[in-house]
Amino acid sequence: MKNKLAITVDVEDWYHLPPFTGAPNSKFKDVPSFFKIWKYRYDYLTKPTFRILDLLQQYRITGTFFIVADVAYYYSGLVEEIARRGHEIACHGLHHACKIDPKTKKPLIPPDEFKQRTILAKSILEQASGKKVIGYRAPNAYIAGWMIDILEEIGFRYDSSVCVNSIYNKADCSLKGISSKPYYPKSGGLEPGNSKRGILEIPWPYFSVLLKFPTAGGPALRMLGARYIKKGLKESLMRGDTIFYFHPIDISEESFPLNSLTNKIFWMIKGNRVFAEIKEILSDSEFAKTTCSELLEKAL
Ligand SMILES: [Zn+2]
Repeated sequence: MKNKLAITVDVEDWYHLPPFTGAPNSKFKDVPSFFKIWKYRYDYLTKPTFRILDLLQQYRITGTFFIVADVAYYYSGLVEEIARRGHEIACHGLHHACKIDPKTKKPLIPPDEFKQRTILAKSILEQASGKKVIGYRAPNAYIAGWMIDILEEIGFRYDSSVCVNSIYNKADCSLKGISSKPYYPKSGGLEPGNSKRGILEIPWPYFSVLLKFPTAGGPALRMLGARYIKKGLKESLMRGDTIFYFHPIDISEESFPLNSLTNKIFWMIKGNRVFAEIKEILSDSEFAKTTCSELLEKAL
């Protein structure tokens, strides 16, 4: 069977990112603290999300939307609309907070707190969408083996967070033995295990020339464009099924609030230019496009 590409969309707004919330050095402790202080316009997400939904409809693509659960509270009807258009609903955390320290990779919260928060996030998304949520993507892709064990325990069937590359590592283990092909991780770790278990890891694609370069999408898509991403997607599809991802805010034409210099540089390339890059990938007929849950079914 031809290897497939899951089209995935990470639904989060500008203030969910580490400069503002969810990381040890963020400006606000978390999203609830942000909303206690922030009395200005916050929604830069709804408009580009509708544009993405229309684009997917135009290309007849059903995708997997990894949604930060608090979006169901602060953006009335958005999760419902994504579900209504027939897309798979998956979980991208309760408030998009990092669960492990980006530097030390040690847990930032006790495992039991991660468990309770993720159960809550899953049920918020299930209630809003009326669909079962079985997929998880770690906020900012910071992922650890102990998180996978908990995800399996609370009913998740797959995770798609491991970004295999040799430039940076957001996982709590070495990425050396991990390919971009879906695999069953060993208990307590992210490395491939031998036995089949209840949770599948769908890692991110890479392009290799001496080193492994990340080509899943996101900032790499904005900075380096569709041609670069497609090279890695095509190489990864030779190995097995893989994913492509982007954010609705990547195509926002507006400038986000609290624009520090670093943030300005991070968002230097976005908007219509990125929308065109996404279109180039989605319209490529070489890709057999699908959802993550279909990749899971395929792996079983
Ligand atoms: Zn995210």
